Amino acid sequence: MQNNWHQLLQFDQQHIWHPYAKIPSTTPMIGVQKAKGSIITLADNKELIDGMSSWWACIHGYNHPTIQQAMHEQIEQMPHIMFGGLTHQPAIDLAKRLVKLTPLGLDKVFFSDSGSVAVEVAIKMALQYWISLKKPQKKQLMTVKNGYHGDTFATMAICDPDNGMHAIFSHALIQHHFAAAPQMGFNKTSDNGDINDFKALLSQHHQNIAAVVIEPIVQGAGGMRFYRPDYLKQVCQLCQSYNVLLIADEIATGFGRTGKLFACEWADITPDILCLGKALTGGNLTLAATLATAKISETISQGNPGLLMHGPTFMANPLACATAIASIDLLLASPWKENIRGIEKHLQQELLPLNKFSGVKDVRVLGAIGVIELDRADLGEKIQELAVQQGVWLRPFGSLIYTMPAYNIPQAQLQQLTDGMVNAVKIALSS
Ligand SMILES: *Cc1c(COP(=O)(O)O)cnc(C)c1O
Repeated sequence: MQNNWHQLLQFDQQHIWHPYAKIPSTTPMIGVQKAKGSIITLADNKELIDGMSSWWACIHGYNHPTIQQAMHEQIEQMPHIMFGGLTHQPAIDLAKRLVKLTPLGLDKVFFSDSGSVAVEVAIKMALQYWISLKKPQKKQLMTVKNGYHGDTFATMAICDPDNGMHAIFSHALIQHHFAAAPQMGFNKTSDNGDINDFKALLSQHHQNIAAVVIEPIVQGAGGMRFYRPDYLKQVCQLCQSYNVLLIADEIATGFGRTGKLFACEWADITPDILCLGKALTGGNLTLAATLATAKISETISQGNPGLLMHGPTFMANPLACATAIASIDLLLASPWKENIRGIEKHLQQELLPLNKFSGVKDVRVLGAIGVIELDRADLGEKIQELAVQQGVWLRPFGSLIYTMPAYNIPQAQLQQLTDGMVNAVKIALSS
């Protein structure tokens, strides 16, 4: 490695916070020079196969030429302009696509700059809806355990209260209602009564509840759990019968990851409000969107003050919108369903045999997501290190070793990825 890099990494270690990290970091970060497709080139020129898509986002791999071209064109035209009082074609063209592609009825779009903020905006919409209907007492939220909805204060308050990353802040958070997490896996059809806790809690507290917030089908950072579509359908029906709004957080699942364009489609539901982020720009720039039905927008508009009270500085950033348009068009022009089905089959074939391995609690695969859950939560760092030695980039989280590769990862690289993942787990468990 060049001398220069040595100094850069030292500065990084002493001065820069990374996600959920301390200064100085216990182990130095790994320097990256560049990334292309599913290959990450490190400072020392070593190459890693990317298993993370930069946290669900880079669905086309890195530096895709079509997206880069669109970004260059928009930079020439206008990278940014304020959205207050002004509008532009990238925002309009992107909104058109989102309205068309998302479940029927979601046709009002609010753009923001990160997933957490998209959820904050959804919560505000829900509260303003009830304020407008003169029911301000409906201000609490309900969710299920094992969820993850972001790192800001309103979203921390609906993350898993026990195992989540925010337990130390619990004294400073608004208290909401948590039902037991769905227990039956994706393929289970019997309901086993696992909706009963949700039902009981909603029937008890609905008069004070503005909205239910839930990740459809896949609970991401709160446990990488998959649950059956029928549970989601029941949640939707219960929300309707108790007059509570439904907010679907598809920030992780949106744009094909589960095998459907949006995970709500598995249960054939339209939520009142939908949050998108992560893969929206194909992981190239930060952008998020909150979509709502006309019922929400009309009620807020007819209430007092009649305005949706939110407006970030970089709202609908034209460069980010143009990037999102390019990413969506690229996705829809690709055989994404077949690609994801192919990845799913491969992950099943290569990862499911680990189920028999001692120390492995569960292996599960859905769409382009593969999860190995271990009995122990202390091997993550070791497995990351072993994976890097195997030429693979993974970022385990506690007992969860998981991958969500780019949809267009070449078959040979996918094979290297799962080989590296399986080897890293086996070595870690047997040492
Ligand atoms: C990542 C994520 C968020 C938060 O998005 P940020 O862009 O990190 O703020 C919210 N909800 C879900 C389901 C996520 O996966």
